[in-house]
Amino acid sequence: MKKHNFSAGPSILPQQTIKGTAEAILDFNNSGLSLMEISHRSKGFQAVMDEAIELFKELLNIPEGYSVIFLGGGASLQFCMAPFNLLEKKAAYLNTGTWANKAMKEAKLFGEVVEVATSKPDNYTYIPKNYEIPADADYFHITTNNTIFGTELHTDIDSPVPLVADMSSDIFARVIDVSKYGLIYGGAQKNLAPAGVTFVIVKDELLGKVSRPIPTMLDYRTHIENGSMFNTPPVVPIYAAVETLRWLKAMGGVPAMEKLNKEKATILYNEIDRNPLFRGTCAVEDRSLMNVCFVMTDEYKDLEADFLKFAIEKGMDGIKGHRSVGGFRASIYNAMPKESVQALIDCMQEFEKQHAK
Ligand SMILES: *Cc1c(COP(=O)(O)O)cnc(C)c1O
Repeated sequence: MKKHNFSAGPSILPQQTIKGTAEAILDFNNSGLSLMEISHRSKGFQAVMDEAIELFKELLNIPEGYSVIFLGGGASLQFCMAPFNLLEKKAAYLNTGTWANKAMKEAKLFGEVVEVATSKPDNYTYIPKNYEIPADADYFHITTNNTIFGTELHTDIDSPVPLVADMSSDIFARVIDVSKYGLIYGGAQKNLAPAGVTFVIVKDELLGKVSRPIPTMLDYRTHIENGSMFNTPPVVPIYAAVETLRWLKAMGGVPAMEKLNKEKATILYNEIDRNPLFRGTCAVEDRSLMNVCFVMTDEYKDLEADFLKFAIEKGMDGIKGHRSVGGFRASIYNAMPKESVQALIDCMQEFEKQHAK
């Protein structure tokens, strides 16, 4: 049976990424050696690293004055690395969910943290608006897509201070204006590659301003100066990322991906809104293009376990909702084909036929 992978992360990757990486693991560039056993300083791998950086710059239209680096430690390490490098006195945070909270917790180790707004009292079902960003903050931190709660910022914020963004789960999903950001980071395992590599896009002029000493490995400048080769980089995930970026480019780049993502999300949200058995959990204007959260309406609440079982039997993998929301979450990242989204819709309609009162 065909499986449709709706997992939130690690999650679906393009077949090209999986097959291309598998081939490189068996035989890298017809070298007779595995990608896993070659030196990261070999010509062959240097070309992979160069291509990764080039494709990031090209596909996101990254302006001059920014560096792209690849690190270990996941997005979670960036929760502390960003304030370590940028927070001198005070930082502002928009609290839109679990990951934003974790980021704030780390920042508090380095200085004052101002929570400019939060949707916590409503279980993070919307993105707060009309808040004020303190002009004397060192930066303003946002989570552009809230993987757990299913909300997303659909535009780039105008911030009077450098904007720092966790884009773990929506990088390359929509067109962004990188010039509006000071720092963008994310773990690879939602939209790019297997876990193990973290991307960071940073505006160079923001670095070197804090007065505290920064351990070598946690200083962005170390990795910029050494082309992400200060120590051994995670070569397999970086190679996989290159395969994904090649695929993305061949698909027409980020604008084409955004169009497709909107189509996929629209048909699924339309079904959730139409089908009397289901309802969405988030404010319509803030609904994520990547993580579609929904529950059963009160009238059908007792059928939740049955629908989950039904969906699994039809090959829908990973749609159980996160425990903080309940119900269902269909993650429909870039690599998710529209046919799989349609298969989930068909499944919802079939279940409706069986159970609608
Ligand atoms: C998954 C996720 C993280 C955590 O990433 P790790 O690489 O596991 O540390 C952080 N932020 C967001 C928005 C995520 O979706």
